[in-house]
Amino acid sequence: MRIFKFGGASVKDAAGIKNVYDVLLKAGYEDVLLVVSAMGKTTNALEIVIKNYFDKSDELKSSVQEIKKYHNQILLDLFEDDKNEVFAAVNTQFLELEYFLIHNKSPNYDFVYDQIVSYGELISTTILSHFMSYMGIKTQWLDVRNFIKTNANYRDAEVDWELTQANISKNVKRKILNVTQGFLGSDENNFTTTLGREGSDYTAAIFAYCINAESVTIWKDVPGVMNADPRYFENASLLNQISYREAIELAFYGATVIHPKTLQPLQKKEIPLYVKSFINPLLPGTSVSKGSTLEPFMPCFIVKREQLLISLSSIDFSFIMEENISEIFGLFHQFKLKVNLIQNSAISFSVCVEDKFGNFKELNSILSKKFKVDFTENVTLYTIRHSDDKAAHTVEEGKTVLLKQVGTETMQIVTKEN
Ligand code: ADP
Ligand code: ASP
Ligand code: MG
Repeated sequence: MRIFKFGGASVKDAAGIKNVYDVLLKAGYEDVLLVVSAMGKTTNALEIVIKNYFDKSDELKSSVQEIKKYHNQILLDLFEDDKNEVFAAVNTQFLELEYFLIHNKSPNYDFVYDQIVSYGELISTTILSHFMSYMGIKTQWLDVRNFIKTNANYRDAEVDWELTQANISKNVKRKILNVTQGFLGSDENNFTTTLGREGSDYTAAIFAYCINAESVTIWKDVPGVMNADPRYFENASLLNQISYREAIELAFYGATVIHPKTLQPLQKKEIPLYVKSFINPLLPGTSVSKGSTLEPFMPCFIVKREQLLISLSSIDFSFIMEENISEIFGLFHQFKLKVNLIQNSAISFSVCVEDKFGNFKELNSILSKKFKVDFTENVTLYTIRHSDDKAAHTVEEGKTVLLKQVGTETMQIVTKEN
């Protein structure tokens, strides 16, 4: 069996869904499992619904209405006959969502988040699977929550591999087109969980691992994995082949084209991963496998914007050693700041972090009691794999370099735009 994953960008409108059908005609659809994300920016739109719900905002109803309208338009563009049962199926899903919003009693934000945000994937797969049947492909819709079992760590649930493996090997039918949701799972009480934002690539890898799939293909709006994000680098080039190790490194440092959790299950069973263009499905794209590091071999650039550079130094000139460092890291973890770079000397310690949840102010008040804290907001972190002088120069040109760390394979540079 082959696993195909289609992300939000590939199913953002009716033309996108028709294009998925074209991709299937070209790539084949027998004995295939499709993992599909919410359409376009639906997950972000559902996050607004969640916010409105907790804020008891007057906009709650209209924010749901907007999502309904968006999906309804896609349905009307796809199906000529509005008597098609897909209209009732999607309508029922929206009624369920509205029922939850009225009757939920749980104050647990993360729990509520997962129960609501999951409708993005549930609805997109309902539409997509009906459309594939409508076009004459024998299709089966699977509720992924009957397959992927997780703990109850809502919004960032961990997979129970044993239960998941048993469910998947028993219940996925072969020889037809299976369609299921990315990003979702369920806990032991069958409540919906999610695997972390952008987690649908990971879902594809979970299925692949449990079913011993022949391969995984993630279909993207780019020709494959490139040596830089083409949104930010004009001359980005396609990497034809990369090793699992290189792909993990690139994803870890922030090449968002592959979700970092995707690689480990695939690497364990040596299942190849193809990253291909849903616009030009016949082009080879990038293949990630056991082979050589990087083909062609060239520097790879990864950019992380809106970072925070924090420098801590001891107030009394004492060393910053293991004990301090473990305490500092404990605090970063507690305040959910993601550390992307570390550099230390005898009496100072610098980190480049991402403050996704806006917790730095509170953390700073704690750190300041023990250390002298200096920080610069809004810096950019560049990571260059396999850097050379020219690559470093390209990054540094016209910017103020605040910190630079050079390793044998990886160079990291923190800059502030002038
Ligand atoms: P999905 O629709 O599956 O969620 P994403 O939007 O998450 O897809 O990933 C595709 C995007 O990743 C591309 O549009 C591109 O801007 C970005 N990207 C970041 N780094 C790279 C890279 N090294 N190579 C290709 N694309 C990259
Ligand atoms: N829909 C989810 C998100 O936007 C999962 C995914 O697209 O991978 O985060
Ligand atoms: Mg995505």
